Amino acid sequence: MATYSVPIEDMMFLFEKLRDNPHYNVLEKYKEVNPNLAKDILEQAAKITENLILPLAKVGDEKPATFENGVVRTPPGYKAAYKKFIDDGWVSLSCDPEYGGQGMPKTISSFFDEMLSSASLSFKLYSELSIGAYNCIFHHGNNSIKKIFLPNMVKGIWSGTMCLTESVCGTDLGLLKTKAVEQSNGTYELTGQKIFITSGDHDLTENIIHLVLARTPDAPLGTKGISLFLVPKIQVKEDGSLGPRNGVSTGSIESKMGIKGSATCVLNFDGAVGHIIGPKNEGLSLMFTMMNLERIVVGIQGLGISEIAYQNALNYSKERKQGKSNSSKTKNGADLIIDHADIRRSLLNMKSIIEGERALSFWLAQQTEVSLHHKDNKIKEEALDLVSLMTPVVKSLFSDMGMEITSDAMQIFGGYGYTKDQGIEQLYRDNRITPIYEGTNSVQSIDLVFRKLTNKDIIGRYFKLIEEEIKKNKNQEKIKPLAEKLDEYLKITISFTNWIKKNIKDSKDDVSAACNDYLKVLGLIALAYSWLRVLDVSYKELSKNKKFFEAKIETANFFFNRILPRIDSHYKSATSGSKYIMDFKFN
Ligand SMILES: Cc1cc2nc3c(=O)[nH]c(=O)nc-3n(C[C@H](O)[C@H](O)[C@H](O)COP(=O)(O)OP(=O)(O)OC[C@H]3O[C@@H](n4cnc5c(N)ncnc54)[C@H](O)[C@@H]3O)c2cc1C
Repeated sequence: MATYSVPIEDMMFLFEKLRDNPHYNVLEKYKEVNPNLAKDILEQAAKITENLILPLAKVGDEKPATFENGVVRTPPGYKAAYKKFIDDGWVSLSCDPEYGGQGMPKTISSFFDEMLSSASLSFKLYSELSIGAYNCIFHHGNNSIKKIFLPNMVKGIWSGTMCLTESVCGTDLGLLKTKAVEQSNGTYELTGQKIFITSGDHDLTENIIHLVLARTPDAPLGTKGISLFLVPKIQVKEDGSLGPRNGVSTGSIESKMGIKGSATCVLNFDGAVGHIIGPKNEGLSLMFTMMNLERIVVGIQGLGISEIAYQNALNYSKERKQGKSNSSKTKNGADLIIDHADIRRSLLNMKSIIEGERALSFWLAQQTEVSLHHKDNKIKEEALDLVSLMTPVVKSLFSDMGMEITSDAMQIFGGYGYTKDQGIEQLYRDNRITPIYEGTNSVQSIDLVFRKLTNKDIIGRYFKLIEEEIKKNKNQEKIKPLAEKLDEYLKITISFTNWIKKNIKDSKDDVSAACNDYLKVLGLIALAYSWLRVLDVSYKELSKNKKFFEAKIETANFFFNRILPRIDSHYKSATSGSKYIMDFKFN
């Protein structure tokens, strides 16, 4: 089984030293969330993830969720663990106190998301979509819906789902067919089938609250005719008590490559009673409240799985002896594999990407809180712009890097990584869904280029932020060489952006074929920007914790010298155009 220890020191470093967004720091709501409280929460969270949830990862993989006689059962141990999880209040961590939540900011809850993803993504998913559904109802439900449904979702005794996908519609939601017909009492009757629904059915909670996209009979075609409905598995009376079973049943569950403990369900809606959320035909944009926040969390899933893969690869490389290193002093026998340059390179690839991602995710958590809660609408909107720019980047970059890192970790284990005993191949399989769900990574990159780059000049503003950081750091002798490197690659990124803007109208195939590379380039720049801010603090604090900050400085140097130059090849490859792609005749 893979082992795991929560990287609290790194998380607390970010919380203490990089909570540097002035607009976040004035949020009244979080004035009392200080480092002592953060540390206390992270330590408690670490206990539950390391002791209670981590052991469930292997169980869930070997004894997946089952479906028998119409009933979905979670793997052994899930029920007891989930009960402890909700009794201790972990589902409610970031929810609003008005509905029983603890009201913690994303600067804390995103660390918890990372820990849970490291320990067991399958187990995490049962509460993750509940929080997503909670957010959507919280922002768009009317008061009576919120009063009836939110308190039990916050307690965790009811869970939530997100029902978009149908057999003919995955990426292209305009094709969806599920029907919703209004009844005389104002409710709707839903009929249709949804597939691939995470936590669509299970035995952990008393009720499941489905958020379903469907069409009313008079709705326009395409995405403009989609409405959002709340459909409980068991109907709920006005006083919040449970009523009769609703017309929702489970057709089957999927047999999958990974996240086997998570039940992925086919759900049949046969005249199920639903309540409309928000205005008719505006369902897709409302669902995006949930999906955008979820996409960031999917990126964090990739980060969490990368962290546990790295920790295990590092530990193994300190135990396994094979071959002689170039500077070997060993007379008989072999050296530890961590002494080999290529293994060290691979470990530092992982470490520098993971720590850069954690810093970027922490920066984004602050922006997200500002975008949700700042009093000044202009500041709020500017933060929201940056969040919307970075959402596809974090979702795709972190999940793709998760594939690279879990694969490299497996490589460090050699044959023992490919076989099941060490739990490393499971991390690779579990992570493989993250570039697919919540909108595939290709589609994220298309969204980034065709929507986000052409929206206002958000990208120009983002580049300005980075230029300011570079300017500030060019005056510092020790950081100057790295600041200059970032400057060099930022210039390439700006050229790439201009190339896209120039071609976006008349050479669409060229641009479409460049989206994936562009997302990677912007992601690498965002990581480097995060590293530069980390470096600045690390030099200032060096004398206080030499070991920790020296490691930061060396890892940053590795990142700027060995990872950032990947930008060059993405840029050259992408701007070569699409002739050899679109003219090719596949047989
Ligand atoms: C384990 C699991 C859990 C899931 N959980 C949920 C859930 O809880 N709720 C839910 O609603 N759905 C869920 N899904 C569905 C998931 O979100 C979809 O599988 C995903 O959005 C892709 O849709 P698709 O599978 O139909 O692929 P398709 O949309 O058919 O895409 C196939 C390929 O074509 C590419 N493609 C599609 N359109 C374009 C385009 N315009 N340009 C370029 N390339 C394109 C895609 O990137 C992909 O590579 C889940 C799926 C799985 C496997």
